[in-house]
Amino acid sequence: MPVGSSGSWPRGSLLPLPPVGIGTRHCEGLSGYLVRLAGAHVVPARVLTARIFPAALGRLGHVSERAVHGRRGAWMNGTGLWAEAVSEAFGALTRQDDLARLTMLPWRDVLAPRSFLAPVRRWCPDCYADMRARHGWCRDPLVWSLTPVTCCPRHRRALATRCPACRREQPFLGSDTALGWCALCGADLGRAETARGEQELTPYDTWRADACADLVALGSGDKVTPSPLVLQSRMSGIVEIVEGGNVSAFARRVGVTRNAVKHWLRQGTIHLDLLLLASWCVGLQPAELFAAEDPLGNVCLGRWQTSAASERGTRWSRRDWNAVGCRFDEIVRATPHVRLRDVAARLRVDTALLRDRLPDRVAALTSRRRPARGAAKPAKVAVK
Ligand SMILES: [Zn+2]
Ligand SMILES: [Zn+2]
Repeated sequence: MPVGSSGSWPRGSLLPLPPVGIGTRHCEGLSGYLVRLAGAHVVPARVLTARIFPAALGRLGHVSERAVHGRRGAWMNGTGLWAEAVSEAFGALTRQDDLARLTMLPWRDVLAPRSFLAPVRRWCPDCYADMRARHGWCRDPLVWSLTPVTCCPRHRRALATRCPACRREQPFLGSDTALGWCALCGADLGRAETARGEQELTPYDTWRADACADLVALGSGDKVTPSPLVLQSRMSGIVEIVEGGNVSAFARRVGVTRNAVKHWLRQGTIHLDLLLLASWCVGLQPAELFAAEDPLGNVCLGRWQTSAASERGTRWSRRDWNAVGCRFDEIVRATPHVRLRDVAARLRVDTALLRDRLPDRVAALTSRRRPARGAAKPAKVAVK
């Protein structure tokens, strides 16, 4: 039953709470918006959803309260039916026409669905502390819900996933009214010690967080509509410039299968992590691929990676083995059972050279792939 025709919840039934950050890198996500909306009505988010979802979201079928506050809370920020239904319903109830911009819906035609939503809620304690100090309240930026984003684009620290007091994960839609506080024990999630030192960040981590924040800004703004036709055309141009149109060579350069590249070129859709990887490998920002201005002039034949977010746009004049080591760690972390020769192919470095320059990493990788008989399975930690 569409909202607006419902007698119990006519259009404009809820407070017209304006969304925050549209068109910027810090645009809030829809799940966080619903918690703020509940707070504006001084009811717990659980009460708001229990009263409105059954009437307003009938087309999604029966959905348990537990599901709404669990994984499907993440889906609200994505590109699927959930994001569409929730943004439409609450957009009508609050008379806010742009709630779809708080989701990844603007990227629906380009990004492979559900491949990019983090399964748990994540946050930056420093951002919460800053927001509380500046505004007295917190919001959840959309970028935190994207899987490839493991650190805060603003504070360069790992995102937290567990409350510093009770160590439990947080629901996407907390039962309470305020963001920034643990939904389970009430502790302050902006406590500075949270997540410090839990994860060592690589240049690729920070670059990815920046790149995703740029994509959020582009998608939530109204200047450009991400289009598969544009992705097809620009990806095809990149393959032409970088490898003379040789799809197999380009696939080797990026470290993906030939069929994956063919899919990008034919369908114009791509997984977010591969969009990031391909952009990184040719030294472009992913948002540049969809911008109004053609970015192909920025692709450099001699540049197969930018070295870090802080050095955007710089070239590698010589092989930087620290950066190669970071990229090595990144590949191993993403694909724990990868073979050395595949890592070498992705890095475009000879395996013998890798053994010579990065002996500790290579030894750790090969021993991980071939554990001694009867030995305990090694812990999955980043190789240093
Ligand atoms: Zn932050
Ligand atoms: Zn807690």
